[in-house]
Amino acid sequence: MRAASQAEPAGQAEWTVARSEALYRVSGWSDGFFHINDAGKVCVRVSDDSPAMVIADIIAELRKRSIRLPALIRFQDVLRARVQRLHQAFNTAIADSGYSAPYRGVYPIKVNQLHEVVEEVLEAGRPFGMGLECGSKTELIAALAHLDDDEALLICNGVKDSTMMRLMLAAQRLGKNVIPVVEKYHEFEMLMSIAEAMEARPRFGVRVRLATSGSGKWAKSGGDLSKFGVSIPELMQLVGRLQQCGMSDALVLLHFHLGSQLADIQIVKHAVKEIAHIYAQLVERSLGVKYLDVGGGLSVNYESQYDADDQPINYNLQEYANAIVYAVKEVCDVENAACPVLISESGRAITAHHSVLVVPVLGAFRKDAVDPNYKPGPEEENVIHELYGILADIRGRLKKTARVQVWQLLESFHDAAEKRGEADQLFTLGYLPLEQKATAERLYWSICQGVHELLGGVDPGAQVPAELRALDEHLVDQYLCDFSVFQSILDHWAIGQGFPIMPLERLNEEPTRRATLVDLTCDSDGKVDHYVSALRDRRFLPVHGNGGTDPYYLGFFLMGAYQDIMGDSHNLFGRVAEVHVYSDAHEPNGYYIEKIIPGTTVEEMLADVQYFPSDLKRRMNEIIRRKVDAGVIRPPAGVQLLEEYMKCFADTTYIDHEG
Ligand SMILES: *Cc1c(COP(=O)(O)O)cnc(C)c1O
Repeated sequence: MRAASQAEPAGQAEWTVARSEALYRVSGWSDGFFHINDAGKVCVRVSDDSPAMVIADIIAELRKRSIRLPALIRFQDVLRARVQRLHQAFNTAIADSGYSAPYRGVYPIKVNQLHEVVEEVLEAGRPFGMGLECGSKTELIAALAHLDDDEALLICNGVKDSTMMRLMLAAQRLGKNVIPVVEKYHEFEMLMSIAEAMEARPRFGVRVRLATSGSGKWAKSGGDLSKFGVSIPELMQLVGRLQQCGMSDALVLLHFHLGSQLADIQIVKHAVKEIAHIYAQLVERSLGVKYLDVGGGLSVNYESQYDADDQPINYNLQEYANAIVYAVKEVCDVENAACPVLISESGRAITAHHSVLVVPVLGAFRKDAVDPNYKPGPEEENVIHELYGILADIRGRLKKTARVQVWQLLESFHDAAEKRGEADQLFTLGYLPLEQKATAERLYWSICQGVHELLGGVDPGAQVPAELRALDEHLVDQYLCDFSVFQSILDHWAIGQGFPIMPLERLNEEPTRRATLVDLTCDSDGKVDHYVSALRDRRFLPVHGNGGTDPYYLGFFLMGAYQDIMGDSHNLFGRVAEVHVYSDAHEPNGYYIEKIIPGTTVEEMLADVQYFPSDLKRRMNEIIRRKVDAGVIRPPAGVQLLEEYMKCFADTTYIDHEG
């Protein structure tokens, strides 16, 4: 079975690293951060003049330090680089267009709230005056304490209660640039009455429900059907109230958010123009609006199959920044309004690239084939000899270069199926020993593999019957992987999000097998069902044979946005270990590990669902004691069993694949 033969004509040329890069479409999703070195190993590099960090080196170091995999590796420099690129893109657009106000990014922490991630983003964004965005009370509490800089914005979206409002108004009094964004009209009324009680002059923003709606999975985040935002009639009512009580300066920000992964730049432009007109008209009515917040939605190319995706992303970072800056400028020029400070809340685009999940393959399961040197002996039944005859014929064809016809393959396949049926019948009647039934099955699958391989070489225009096409699925390997889809790539299960996955080593060798990846959960949905690759059939991942004893590691890329925090506890698999890596040219391997956060332990997972070690120990002890009393086991064996049981509480929830 030749995996790559679908992508390129089989085998004449030597396999190269470049062919692996093309096969896994690395340039489509890597944004320049990932490449394969000459030794066939995946490397991470922030820019051309920074060191290439070999992920396999990091894995080796973790193993030396007895850190158990799977692990999530965070490349902090990649995170920083994304923050910088975002600001540079807007600053370039602002300079080129002569836009007369600055851009101020805010990081929506819901995308990845991990403390180190937020701190790293803030630090990288400090020269640009970057702020934060939060959407709940807990996020507000976390974010508020990180506003060292009085200028940095903290935008609070989402539904708010009076506690949150009071806290934000108090922070404004401290001189902090905290802006509550009113989501619903009644929030405005609540804000006004709390401000009055506190004798505070509030500053706030409004999320506007635009006529433009997004497209794709998050289309309902905007438009008439959205659950978010204030309608235009409500906005006018709100403006009237402010003018009445002489507080026109309180409304400082307009906001919209069309949803995540916006695919079409035209929709972005359209929405931006719509809000810019609203802005300009409010300025004309002497409201204090000076910030225009275009929300998130800047896309990340996960699959980058422009031809295959139903929602191809048709722009890049610079085009996104240009679209916003130029559209707002155009409207402000026409309407004669001062340009507002631009804010965007890009989350996914900042964090997606920086983390890579390293997953060990625990085992490969494939259809058993016969040993290449196998020959049936005289004691074996006729049917075995007949199956062997079909196999020998197929092997003969595989050696020749002559093109085979589809009907010839179909004939061999039918013959094999018939003989396998015969073998099954003989077995049921008691004429075929179990060993020979096993041989018959192995022969059958060997024939199917040969047929499948020959199928790759038939006339490309030939019609292939469904029976033969189905071999694709029947012959694919299953790679059992030490992870949980529900904990680590929830969006794959929930919304069919594709994530780039590829081996981290051996990429200078041809990946000759095709596999589906299955996880540890006892859930038939616990698998990856489509892959990013250049193969025509994306239901399978091209992989290397995993025959040796060397562990085989797969990298899951673009893990940094949403997956970390949304993962759930299906089958009580917990968070994986985390490793924070910094690039450093002075270190021998071009990097150093700054921090390791252990994965969730069995004890911690159990506590989440209200099981506690002392109670479990007591119960276990009781069970063992009864067996000792009954004489089933000796007391020392009982003690040992209890010790083994208790030792597991400190373990991680994943499989110890080296133990
Ligand atoms: C989720 C969200 C974001 C972040 O969106 P991305 O697609 O990750 O950039 C920004 N703003 C609001 C209001 C959100 O709800």
